[in-house]
Amino acid sequence: MTSKSAAAAARATVYGYPRQGQNRELKKAVEGYWKGRVTADALRATATDLRRRNWQQLAEAGIHEVPTGDFSYYDHVLDTSVMVGAIPERHRAAVDADALDGYFAMARGTQEVAPLEMTKWFDTNYHYLVPELGPDTVFSANSAKQVAELKEALALGLTGRPVLVGPVTYLLLAKPAPGVPADFEPLTLLDRLLPVYAEVLADLRAAGTEWVQLDEPALVQDRTPAELNAAERVYRELGALEDRPKLLVASYFDRLGDALPILAKAPVEGLALDFTESAGANLEALAAVGGLPGKRLVAGVVDGRNIWINDLQKSLSTLGTLLGLADRVDVAASCSLLHVPLDAAAERDIEPQILRWLAFARQKTAEIVTLAKGLAQGTDTIAAELAANRADLASRANSPITHDPAVRARAEAVTDADARRSQPYAERAAAQRAHLGLPLLPTTTIGSFPQTGELRTARADLRAGRIDTAGYEERVKAEIQEVIAFQEKAGLDVLVHGEAERNDMVQYFAEQLTGYLATQHGWVQSYGTRYVRPPVLAGDISRPEPITVRWTTYAQSLTDRSVKGMLTGPVTMLAWSFVRDDQPLGDTARQIALALRDEVGDLEAAGTSVIQVDEPALRETLPLRAADRAAYLAWATEAFRLTTAGVRPDTQIHTHMCYAEFGDIVQAIDDLDADVISLEAARSHMQVARELAAHGYPREAGPGVYDIHSPRVPSAEEAAELLRTGLKAIPAERLWVNPDCGLKTRGWPETRASLENLVAAARTVRSEL
Ligand code: GLN
Ligand code: ZN
Repeated sequence: MTSKSAAAAARATVYGYPRQGQNRELKKAVEGYWKGRVTADALRATATDLRRRNWQQLAEAGIHEVPTGDFSYYDHVLDTSVMVGAIPERHRAAVDADALDGYFAMARGTQEVAPLEMTKWFDTNYHYLVPELGPDTVFSANSAKQVAELKEALALGLTGRPVLVGPVTYLLLAKPAPGVPADFEPLTLLDRLLPVYAEVLADLRAAGTEWVQLDEPALVQDRTPAELNAAERVYRELGALEDRPKLLVASYFDRLGDALPILAKAPVEGLALDFTESAGANLEALAAVGGLPGKRLVAGVVDGRNIWINDLQKSLSTLGTLLGLADRVDVAASCSLLHVPLDAAAERDIEPQILRWLAFARQKTAEIVTLAKGLAQGTDTIAAELAANRADLASRANSPITHDPAVRARAEAVTDADARRSQPYAERAAAQRAHLGLPLLPTTTIGSFPQTGELRTARADLRAGRIDTAGYEERVKAEIQEVIAFQEKAGLDVLVHGEAERNDMVQYFAEQLTGYLATQHGWVQSYGTRYVRPPVLAGDISRPEPITVRWTTYAQSLTDRSVKGMLTGPVTMLAWSFVRDDQPLGDTARQIALALRDEVGDLEAAGTSVIQVDEPALRETLPLRAADRAAYLAWATEAFRLTTAGVRPDTQIHTHMCYAEFGDIVQAIDDLDADVISLEAARSHMQVARELAAHGYPREAGPGVYDIHSPRVPSAEEAAELLRTGLKAIPAERLWVNPDCGLKTRGWPETRASLENLVAAARTVRSEL
């Protein structure tokens, strides 16, 4: 091989594309089907049409090999479970009766049977359905969906490349089925699973594909020697199959690490690696193993999970280095484009200048094609694109939006002392006790109260101009009155205003901070038919004026009890937004923290004695590799402290977390130095209370005693039992009584009953002390 011939062969490809369609046609069709308004045939026709349009768009843009099989009605990991016949026993009958309805039953459950568990796909905001396996699992090949979608692409005259979740990743993402011992390791099923993959591969080859892509993102996580051995064996055995297509093993979201030499030596024809910032180490590691002689290297140089334009010159230089390391170098995004919105050109409200900094799936596709062309035919052939790209990058780098001198100067002047409370916890706790005068086992809630249809209508009316701001604010105030009156009557100790003015805990703040951008059509799949529109951290962040103060003070004016101020923390603001890629995440976190610090200060100055800063996403942004975690936790916890540490000793700082197991970040929770933390715990029977105790956590904590994810009303006795369990780990002087999370998704009747029971439980257990 010469690097010249490797260059000449360069092609453009992607691993996957957004599924929903420009107007979220898929969401409408699937939800319509669930409601019985759309027939199965109509749903299938919509899906076929969406796939065809995506492929044609990709092909017209110059993508040489289009992905197939990446489309999904709900989730591609669930599709993989169907492909390998891993249908849970409880869903078997429904699947046998009707494959499509059975599929949705696995995804969403029915009145009678629970769905599969759902969890986050690596460190993205996409959620997949967790395969349930056990020693009795019998796999069987069902390649119908993959074969049909490949044939659709071929029939359009396109070169398709089926994309499958690889067998190692599939098993590593699985968990023991209900009733199977918790220590069962799905990876032990490998020998049963491989023949099924072999059959699917043979079917796809027979259907006419040259290549199949096997996605193994689990190999970018820390893996045990046994797991690495399994990967070695899988690709040795699949490679040795006679009747198979060429295999491209794809990795993304980070560096391959110890798995790289294994896959480089495996008898497969291609390897796809992530070459964006986070995975720069791949380049070095690839050179260290002597490259991929005789193989196809697919280079993920365009960031597949963020929305910024690529630095084409920089990517070309990476690609140039890679040319000497493989027989053929193809250009791709670092991962499936599933994680970015469809088309930036659809945005009408973003300033044209800023719009040029953004690249959604469609724009990324064009970048990939440009890079492949530059590589294959010489950079002269893309001179115009390079010039335009240079100008856009320069406009972003030199913009006052991305460089606000006041914000920068302030962030630079931050000292350790700014991120430290003026007194140690024990002294603060005494001051707060005296100041707040709360009973033992104080009761509170997490912030939001039911978001009623009326409220949503009022917001829509405001947007549409049917009511004015004054009219809208009257509605919000009426809601606050009701929420305060209820809490007083129910006997809660620390009240909240209910968050009636917020559409979403991140979006609400993003809309009011300078430097944040909102999109109109920037939808990204979160799970199933749920799509979110993450705000964009585009520039330096500042707070032009107070955000929450008047709502909190209004609520406080209605009661003698303490009303808790309520903010979304800097790490969660970051985690649920598209982030800047032109500065370290920690720098962005610090800017948000300083803006929120002013809000905290203003709340305190307005008489708020208890302020909660929510960080439900602290755990989910944890880096995939253990080696990267300490650095992340250092800036993440500093950002929280910077937000909160400026208050007086007798002002009580609360935080809240949910959606995760916290066992491995108890030290980080401690490092937040919050006075009180509320955590999700009801379903795990106060597990987190034991974890905090084991760590010697010295501060106050409220492990949730009311599971708010279900409309079920917990009885007072049940909540009291959980409190007694909590008391075994946390002493009464430090135990709070609260639900697992906010109540915005609940209805009023069950909220009322549940909180009344929660207060009754606190009273009962207090009387036993
Ligand atoms: N304060 C927020 C609420 O009550 C917290 C939400 C969350 O943790 N996700 O809704
Ligand atoms: Zn929560």
